[in-house]
Amino acid sequence: MSLIPTIGLNDGVDIPQLGFGVYKIDPGRTTDAVKISLEIGYRHIDTAQLYKNEQGVGEAVRETGIDRADVFITSKLNNGYHRPDDARRAFDNTLAALGCDYVDLFLIHWPLPTLYGGDFVATWRTLEEFKNDGRARSIGVSNFQVPHLERLAHETDVTPSVNQVELHPYFANAAVRAYHDEHGIATEAWAPLARGRVLDDPVVTRIAESVHRTPAQVVLRWHVQRNNIIFPKSVTPQRIDENYRLFDFTLSDTDVDALCALDKGETGRIGPNPDRFDLVSD
Ligand code: NAD
Repeated sequence: MSLIPTIGLNDGVDIPQLGFGVYKIDPGRTTDAVKISLEIGYRHIDTAQLYKNEQGVGEAVRETGIDRADVFITSKLNNGYHRPDDARRAFDNTLAALGCDYVDLFLIHWPLPTLYGGDFVATWRTLEEFKNDGRARSIGVSNFQVPHLERLAHETDVTPSVNQVELHPYFANAAVRAYHDEHGIATEAWAPLARGRVLDDPVVTRIAESVHRTPAQVVLRWHVQRNNIIFPKSVTPQRIDENYRLFDFTLSDTDVDALCALDKGETGRIGPNPDRFDLVSD
């Protein structure tokens, strides 16, 4: 029995609420890092074409001997491949790199409203094909703002199962999150630890002392209690283990509220603004 609760997506698929993120893990180190996470008990891995380490993720699953069906694997379409034919080829390459005949979740990585004539709708319809042919159990988006989600709602029939957005105590991304709650879209929080920046905050360290947990555990537990899906990244075995141990303690409502109060609004964002982000790389 896994310790990790699942969240039911709007298409009936269950996703483990805690996973392991592999952004910036060197392709040569990915297999080992993912194996460590799987041995600890993680059963959800978040990768992307952009990270260049999908192959290492697939190898790790095979080398541990865990059933493919017991690991939830997410990947994402890279920014250079939004045109439908390019997206189809890129998706084939993802499956080949992973060595799998399906992914559990496939996302449009960025909306790129200033590229491709702003046409992420055609890209979304292409992801619908992958879901219809069974090669993606679920499909979703990432870094979509409210107007982007509204446009998909008006012009297409399939609601994304998730939107993976930057979200941590310094950046609550409140309007996007409220839209998700209203429309049955699950919230995936990237940079859940604000890449470590929030861990020295006096509010975080005070709560950590009071519950006898580490600052990282307190911030990740805050996400869990807010129903966010998270996949913190680390290559340090002790931290990978620490980030897994979130389900044997609870934060009080007062502590959750104190962490919510750290929100700095737009100035708390550490990544690019999706309305302007337009970087295309291999
Ligand atoms: P994160 O908030 O998970 O921070 C990772 C960093 O925090 C690590 O490099 C390490 O320095 C530190 N850290 C991790 N565990 C710690 C611990 N227990 N104690 C102290 N420090 C610790 O940020 P992230 O890696 O950017 O985000 C997590 C995942 O989200 C990524 O790996 C990736 O899968 C995903 N992501 C998606 C997007 C997107 O555009 N969709 C963008 C960035 C990240």
